[in-house]
Amino acid sequence: MHTTLEQDLARNPHDGPAIVSSADRMSACADGFVVPGFDAVARLAAGSLQVAMVALVLNDGSAYWYSAEPGRAGTPYGLHPLYLEAARRGSAQILPDIAADARFRDTPPLTGPVPAPLRFFACEPVHTLSGRHVGALCVMDPAPRHDLDGAARATLRDAARLAGAGVVLGGYLGRTDPVTQLPHRSAFFEDLRSRQQHGAQRAWLVAIEVAPVDRFNAFVRAMGFPYADELMRAVAGRLQAWMPSDTHLYQVGVTRFAAVLPEGSPALGPVQLDQLVALLRTPFDCLGIPLTLQPGVGLLDLDVRQLQGTDPLRRVMSASHAAQHSARGWALYSRSQDERHRQEFFLVTELAAALTERTELDLHYQPRVRLEDGRCMTLEALVRWHHPTLGTVPPDQFVPLAERAGLMRTLTGWVLDHGVAQLAAWLRAGHDVGLSINVSNADFDADLVTRLQAVTTRHGVEAARLELEFTESTLLQHNDDTRRHLAAVRDLGTGIAIDDFGTGYSNLASLRQMPATCLKIDQSFVRSMDASRHDAAIVRSIAALARDLGFRVVVEGVETADIYAAVRGMACDEVQGFHVSRPLPAAAVPAWLEARHRG
Ligand code: C2E
Ligand code: MG
Ligand code: MG
Repeated sequence: MHTTLEQDLARNPHDGPAIVSSADRMSACADGFVVPGFDAVARLAAGSLQVAMVALVLNDGSAYWYSAEPGRAGTPYGLHPLYLEAARRGSAQILPDIAADARFRDTPPLTGPVPAPLRFFACEPVHTLSGRHVGALCVMDPAPRHDLDGAARATLRDAARLAGAGVVLGGYLGRTDPVTQLPHRSAFFEDLRSRQQHGAQRAWLVAIEVAPVDRFNAFVRAMGFPYADELMRAVAGRLQAWMPSDTHLYQVGVTRFAAVLPEGSPALGPVQLDQLVALLRTPFDCLGIPLTLQPGVGLLDLDVRQLQGTDPLRRVMSASHAAQHSARGWALYSRSQDERHRQEFFLVTELAAALTERTELDLHYQPRVRLEDGRCMTLEALVRWHHPTLGTVPPDQFVPLAERAGLMRTLTGWVLDHGVAQLAAWLRAGHDVGLSINVSNADFDADLVTRLQAVTTRHGVEAARLELEFTESTLLQHNDDTRRHLAAVRDLGTGIAIDDFGTGYSNLASLRQMPATCLKIDQSFVRSMDASRHDAAIVRSIAALARDLGFRVVVEGVETADIYAAVRGMACDEVQGFHVSRPLPAAAVPAWLEARHRG
């Protein structure tokens, strides 16, 4: 539907006086606001009507003054009853001399930038383009007048009309989200500040997040903006239906909404919050396409007296973000979680820099040996990150972060390139080994095959020298696409290993549908094998079953000679673990291989 700015604004239930707040202007004007172009309109009116002052007063009591005196524009002069009356009356009025008017005998004198009180006063109502009455344009001068002639009245009318257009534009640009018509972030803070001014002590901030941004962007790419806009309008509609009628909803981000609720609001009860989450989890039928969102509702109990800056919104949004990943779907703000998020954010930005412009990443290689003859067939590339101030950050910490932050393709690209280059160097030096590389969910697309081909060609290494390790949980999310990509990897001759087997909940038979070649039994069972007969039995039976199903079986986490000996008696092909070798820096690998193979 095509709408004019004006209609858009008229549909907005919170449009009220429709004003733009501008931080610098606010400081100059207590009740301050800015209407685009108002100074220019006022200057023209002041010049052609020969008056000292012009004011735009809106019918909610907010006002802006213009004076030809330098530095006086916007300076608050107090809302004299005359202005308020003018703003509300809705018709033109001319007062040739206020001082001589019986109606204003008991009111304080109207003052302005000149020392003498203002005597002449005229006003013209201000309407938006669709005729909604929003206030008045007033002109004042210290010298009384007889009247305004026809031309002067027409000038005042024109100026009021221009001011009306500015009000619409200001409201549209400054306060309203163009898609949902909800007031946005600056209005949210105005709401909070106004509570502070009215003596509120505490308030609850509620933030609602409806989609992780990365997924939302992918969604917009796939479906287009009209669908995304329609979806956000539908979300806003449901939220508004839930909200108490005296509460405003604000749009504070593309997929984020917020509200301020008074202390003790019944909407904040657990039952009501559960209802809100259930409402948002109900699939949306948007332009005929159903979509289920992953909503998160965050809550923050705010001391309004301490309100400063925009941090409260950031904090309540961190709670909504955390809530998205919780079963309940809503969560109270937690300082420790917030700290974790900040730390994560810091790590992610540092990791992005480490990947693109710094040389802090490094690969270590852990040998895997064949039980039959003790030979090392394959080395596993394990990434290391040496941060200048944080020290060595373990991959367990930053790999999942890279996954969440969309950095995985870059990270895997880096590992592939460096690992394969290193393998090529060892092959040239006469070491007959292969390399296994860990890949994650995010690498799992058609492009993986292209990347593999490119990197092996670039370094002149056969693709059959490589093996990709996928975790069990990655493979569990398999579908036909996954299977196709894996089959294409196999067609290149590259091996596929199921890493950390036993930590997920898959059964072997379902994994058998995947074209994997190798199964690595997770070290959590292996490490405690000598202490727990139960764990030893698990490893033994997984190994037997896996081999029956045609997998090559690798046991990870072999730390002691006893475990090594125990594993020898099982249906196991290769072992990996500290007992054989810790992960080694690249430079230490050739000597290790030579010593091993000589022995
Ligand atoms: P993983 O793929 O299962 O790698 C084996 C991990 O177990 C390595 O930890 C290795 O140092 C450790 N390990 C090996 N033998 C033993 C042992 O006998 N005892 C004990 N206690 N630990 C042993 P690391 O290097 O800290 O890596 C942890 C995980 O981080 C890896 O588990 C893998 O899932 C991930 N990771 C490491 N490098 C990469 C990478 O380049 N890409 C991706 N996607 N993930 C990686
Ligand atoms: Mg691995
Ligand atoms: Mg593993």
